Amino acid sequence: MTAPAAFDLAGKRVWVAGHRGMVGSALVRRLESEPIGALLTASSAEVDLRRQEPTEAFVQDARPDVVLLAAAKVGGIEANRTRQAEFLYDNLMIGANVIEAAYRAGVERMVVLGSSCVYPREAPQPIAETSLLTGPLEPTNEGYAIAKIAALELARMYRRQHGMDAISLMPSNLYGPCDNYDRTSSHVLAALLRKVHEAKVSGAPTVTVWGTGTPRREFLHVDDLADATVHALRHHTGEDHLNVGWGRDVSIREVAELICDVLGYEGELAFDTSMPDGMPRKLLDTTRMRGLGWEPHIGLREGIADAYRWFLDHVA
Ligand code: GDP
Repeated sequence: MTAPAAFDLAGKRVWVAGHRGMVGSALVRRLESEPIGALLTASSAEVDLRRQEPTEAFVQDARPDVVLLAAAKVGGIEANRTRQAEFLYDNLMIGANVIEAAYRAGVERMVVLGSSCVYPREAPQPIAETSLLTGPLEPTNEGYAIAKIAALELARMYRRQHGMDAISLMPSNLYGPCDNYDRTSSHVLAALLRKVHEAKVSGAPTVTVWGTGTPRREFLHVDDLADATVHALRHHTGEDHLNVGWGRDVSIREVAELICDVLGYEGELAFDTSMPDGMPRKLLDTTRMRGLGWEPHIGLREGIADAYRWFLDHVA
């Protein structure tokens, strides 16, 4: 059997929706080495993707051939848990508006980026793509997950009904340059990097880690996701969504200890069990993505050191 011809990016006008975010800016960096015709961007101040009219006006005017949907409202467990309406509404509107606008503008190919939180809380591990919609979601991120499931299903149904070539990727927990380091709304890796850095600088004897430290997470450097996105854009089509992960998970305690080690902090970890643990485990089965010839390249220690350099240059 001959492999289908790869999608040719040469000369294409590519819109990275959400180019200022961690994922979008990694996509912009990754596309620098591709022979695309034009990189199209719009900041959220210029185009509010939660509103249909400006979104459609922008897309009609920019005429992209390819759309990479990386725009999203994201946050760590506590932001997700306490602001469910916002996470559901904003992401639902962004997904629906961008997919419909891309369809109306007749784009050639689109990639929708989701999240591993779309899978049921009790899904068998590692989580296969086929686990989607087989059970109840993790309550701490239900709003965000429902919006991401809606976007994934929209892409699938626009393909079936309208013949639009949209594919979806579900990455595991992401980290890297341009991450959000806000004290309350950041994801765990960024939160712990900041806390350990501050404890080291101030000489504090302990760092507080939320929850029990036993949940497991699969951390993927955002540059590996950007590479996977371009790879899937070239080599994958069809209605099956694809998991993108690092291939291994670690406990929250382990990642906290690794961060202490990389930063050279010698204090103790204290676990605040009044804070939620969230999903016990969400390791992705990445057999399909690896079958397309893609694999991650950035190890966790090396990736943490890279994220820390960015933190020191831009946040500390
Ligand atoms: P999730 O993967 O969607 O649950 O979101 P996060 O990236 O926020 O990771 C949450 C996990 O990390 C939970 O088990 C938390 O209890 C744990 N955790 C430990 N310390 C922190 C922290 O300071 N911030 C965040 N966001 N999570 C933490």
